[in-house]
Parts: sequence; structure tokens; C-alpha cells
Amino acid sequence: MTMGDPSPRSGQAYDAIVVGSGISGGWAAKELTEHGLKTLVLEAGGPVDPKTDYVEHIPPWDMRYRDMGNRQLMEKDYPIQRGCYACDEVGHKFFVKDAENPYTTPDDAPFRWFRGRQVGGRSITWGRQVYRWSDLDFEANAKDGHGNDWPIRYKDIAPWYSHVERFIGISGNKEGLSQLPDGEFLPGMPMTVVERDASAKIRKAFNGERVMTIGRCAILTQPHNGRLPCHYCGKCERGCVTHSYFTSIGSTLPAARATGNLTLRPHSVVAEVLYDARKGRATGVRVIDAQTKQELEFTARVVFLCASAIESTRLLLLSKSASHPDGLGNSSGTLGRYVMDHHYGSGAGGRMPGYEDFKTSGSRPNGIYIARFRNVKTEHKDYLRGFGMQGGSGRNGWSRGGSAQGYGATFKQSLIEDMAPWRLSASGWGETLPHPDNRITLDDTVKDKWGIPAARIDVRWRENERAMDKDMQTAMAEMLEAAGCVDIGTYGSNNPPGHCIHEMGGARMSKTRDEGVLNASNQVWDAPNVFVTDGACMASNGCQNPSITYMALTARAASLAVGKLNRREL
Ligand SMILES: Cc1cc2nc3c(=O)[nH]c(=O)nc-3n(C[C@H](O)[C@H](O)[C@H](O)COP(=O)(O)OP(=O)(O)OC[C@H]3O[C@@H](n4cnc5c(N)ncnc54)[C@H](O)[C@@H]3O)c2cc1C
Ligand code: SF4
Repeated sequence: MTMGDPSPRSGQAYDAIVVGSGISGGWAAKELTEHGLKTLVLEAGGPVDPKTDYVEHIPPWDMRYRDMGNRQLMEKDYPIQRGCYACDEVGHKFFVKDAENPYTTPDDAPFRWFRGRQVGGRSITWGRQVYRWSDLDFEANAKDGHGNDWPIRYKDIAPWYSHVERFIGISGNKEGLSQLPDGEFLPGMPMTVVERDASAKIRKAFNGERVMTIGRCAILTQPHNGRLPCHYCGKCERGCVTHSYFTSIGSTLPAARATGNLTLRPHSVVAEVLYDARKGRATGVRVIDAQTKQELEFTARVVFLCASAIESTRLLLLSKSASHPDGLGNSSGTLGRYVMDHHYGSGAGGRMPGYEDFKTSGSRPNGIYIARFRNVKTEHKDYLRGFGMQGGSGRNGWSRGGSAQGYGATFKQSLIEDMAPWRLSASGWGETLPHPDNRITLDDTVKDKWGIPAARIDVRWRENERAMDKDMQTAMAEMLEAAGCVDIGTYGSNNPPGHCIHEMGGARMSKTRDEGVLNASNQVWDAPNVFVTDGACMASNGCQNPSITYMALTARAASLAVGKLNRREL
């Protein structure tokens, strides 16, 4: 985004401060400014200009290392981030440099924290898969006793899902499933012929219990709100000059800017939420300018923390005062606890005989989705909760020549004409049980580039996750067999927590102030004019990709905050 904002002065007062400009922060900025609040968005990273910074159309032959990456640079600056598929030769600019942004873990509990610090946050690199939660998810903690009961239910968030979907544009198909509610969809992307047939066969074989649909994704299949439909170029994680997928840079921040109420300040690392014990309210934030390291303070009537789950939790832990010696919002002792991620990657693949006359065209930036079917109607004996599956089908085309033997025109022609057989595969994305010892604390011995104590992350998979992983493989192999695949192989994943990039929890919502950090409106129990609306607020983690739930909760909380401000309750 090009900068056009007047430089805000330290000490200047705003109606609202939003920390972070990613998926959640963009929504907070849009909603608060559209309600008329003068809003300051503080973003730790620098600006991004799609015209010059997006790189999705650079072909491998125009890259210095032919899309293989500069290994020396990646090992030096991105030793952790390079574990994410999107942190590649041209996309690493949207990821943090690890040495500048350290975190620590116990030796026996690795955690992958993949993140970007720039205007737009990870809305530039995200995978765009979006699935509503249902009451199966909101009621899970109460029913099986793991974690605390959510203070809200599906009916509280359903209108906000619609609000978000109508604005950002979601393509998908309606399936009428209670566990995966339909949304307000643009036409879904087409399935391949193999996926269509497999979907029908799987439904029949499992009496309609297992439903394979096209992925529901925040990518346009027709013009929408001034943005163009997708042209299937396929490297979305590097940006999208046509804004065909949702980013805060292409959607929410321009809407906020159009109100005239937005001030966006990049290079602003928020180090603390300032608290006035007399008023029992936050007064604003302390910021370190990322470039000059100068300290600044900004005040506002409400503060929205949207810095991402771990960063917002860290910020609350850093905000210590005489009245909150263990961090702001920690009177219950739960701040930093119940951290979750999806355990994912185990599944199965197989060869689909036939269909030789068909091939795919373009790079569809989406796959298939198999809705959760475990512990929906019948209980599974080995584990609680469930998983969804994501995958797709295709034929290896000319690019398989990279690892085949041969040369010359005949060889190249054969790669185009004799395509490899069709393959179909999918892997599970599984719910993790909330556990108090899966925890973020501060590591006072390690500091980031700006002198701020680093997060220490101790999150581990446990028995329930391991049992579910095994079943992902078995269940997918069964479905491939029902679909008519042969040569079926299962695979397990060794991904540590964090790898799914769906980190959640740390400042969970709760019905009472003694069991969580936030109330049903995402307000910090101990400081009601502070709202936390990113993944930190999650009391459980469902199995669906979570970002649309953060967006809906953020829009809902912004509306509730404005109502409370108007009624002078804050
Ligand atoms: C490769 C990849 C694929 C993904 N696929 C999906 C998917 O398919 N579906 C899905 O739902 N999710 C997906 N995710 C996850 C998704 O990106 C996150 O859930 C989402 O971006 C979280 O939104 P957020 O606003 O909380 O955080 P972010 O989007 O990360 O934004 C946080 C912002 O806060 C800023 N910030 C942090 N600390 C501070 C501070 N102290 N002061 C000021 N600013 C600060 C950061 O610089 C950043 O810009 C994916 C992520 C990646 C990387
Ligand atoms: S595949 Fe579609 S959404 Fe992705 S970058 Fe290309 S045009 Fe944009």
C-alpha cells in the first residue's frame, strides 16, 4: 500500500487504536472508521505497494536461482521461516527475519512460528481457505469438558460471517451440512472430472456421511466490489495485482481509507498497552519506531489488539503495572495458556485409472475439501473432536521432465503429449484439545531487535492428536478405495505445532472473569476498553481454517465497541 497518511504525532489522541494491519486489524480498521471513529492503525512492519512488491507473475526463468532460492541467504536470515512453502526465492520478503524476531522453545518441544511483518500481515501470504464454524465447534468444550465453555454460540456470529463474506467474496458450493454451515457464496470453482466422480462415489459409499466439495476460498470467481475475478495464475502467496483474493491491502484498508478516518503508521512496534489504575481502563499504547527506535505514546478511547495470536498475547504479558503485575488481563491466571494449532498433514493418495482424455488447464488456486465426519453423528472410540481434509487431483505435466531423463524436441514433446496418470490425494487438518500447559510466557533473557522480551512457546501434541492423525490416514485410504483409486499409499506427518500457521488461544474468551481473559464481546475483563479479536481469543480451535472466524469476531466486536462508546459505557 502506498502511504498517503499524514504522519501522526506522538501524544495525539484518537478514538481508536488498532495494533496490526493483517487479516484482523484490517477488519477492525474498516469497521471502526466506517462507524465514524478516528482510528490509528499501528503496524510493526513497513508499507507494501502491490504494483512493485507483488511477484506472482515472475516466471522461474526470470529468477536468479530459478525458483530454487538463495540457500545461503535463507539459511542465514530465514532459518525458521523457510520451513513454510511460501517463504521462497521471491516470497521471502513477506516473512520476518528470524534473528530480528526471536522466540524460544524447550528443546523437546519445537514450535514453528511463521509470520510476516508488513502492512497487510499474513493476508498477503495466506492460503485463503475459509470455513464457518458451527455449534458442533462452539459446544465442544462444554460437552467433553476439555477447555472452558465458549460464551457465544453460532447464532451470535452467523450474521457476522455473512457480513464478512458479502464484503470479501467467497467462492464455494452449498452442501447443507450442519457441521459446516453454508455461507453467502460466489460460484464455486469447478472440480476436475476425477474429483466430481470421486465425490459422487464417496457420498454413495458412505451413505452421504462423507462429503467432498470444492474448497471454499476467499478468491473471486466473478467481479466483486470493484475487484477482478481470478485468472488462475496460481502463485497467490506472492501477492495478486488484480486483488482477486482477499487481502487487507486490497479490501479492508482501502475501505477504511475511503472514510477519511484512517491514519496508518507503519514501522510502529507496539511494546505495551498503557493502563490507568484509577480509571480501570487502558489509555493508549507505547510504541517503538522500528526505524529510529524512538519511543512514542498514542492515546485512544478504545484499543483493538490484532497483532496475531502469539503477538497479542505477548503484548498483554508485556503490559505489566502495579495493578496487573503478571500482565494486563491476567487476573484469572489464564493469560498465555490454552494455545492451540491444527495438527495436519497425515492422509493418503492414490492413482486413478482412466480419464486419459482429460487434463487440467491453468493453475486452479484451490483444492477439494472433505467436511468433518468424525464425532459428528457417531462417536469415534479412539479420540475426541474431528478433522477436515484438503487435497486435490491432477496429472503430472511437462514439469515432471525436471526429474526425468532425456533431452531435445522429441523428449519435450513427449512430456506434453504423454501426461502421467491422474492422482487423487488429501490430508487432514485436525482439532487440538485446549490444554493449560500449552503455553506462552515471556523469555526475559532473549530480546528482539527493539529490546522487547521474546515469547517463550511450549506447545505439544498429546495422545488425542496422535490418535486422530492415525485415523486421518485410514479414513482417506478408505475414501480413495471407494472412489476407484489403485496403488493407494498412506502417509503420516511429523509437523510440529505451529506448522499449520493456525496458532490460536492465549487470551481465551470466557463466560466468567475467573476462567478467561476476554468476555463474550472480546473485551479484556480487567480493562474493558481493550479488545482482542485475533486468534488469541479462541477458546477451542475447531478443525476449520480459522481466519474467517477472526474476521467475523472482529467485525462483531467493533460494532459492540461502538455501541458501548455511544452509550458511554467505556
Ligand atoms: C502460507 C500461509 C497459509 C495460510 N493459509 C490459511 C488458510 O488457508 N486459511 C486460513 O484461515 N488461514 C490461513 N493462514 C493463517 C492466516 O494467515 C492467519 O490466521 C491470519 O493472517 C491471522 O490474522 P491476524 O490479523 O491475526 O494476523 P496477521 O495477518 O499475521 O497480522 C498481524 C499484523 O500485526 C503486526 N504486528 C505484530 N506485532 C505487532 C506489534 N507489536 N506492533 C504492531 N504491529 C504488530 C504484524 O506485523 C502483522 O502485520 C495461512 C498463513 C500462511 C502464512
Ligand atoms: S491465481 Fe487468482 S487469486 Fe491467485 S494470484 Fe493468480 S489471479 Fe490472484
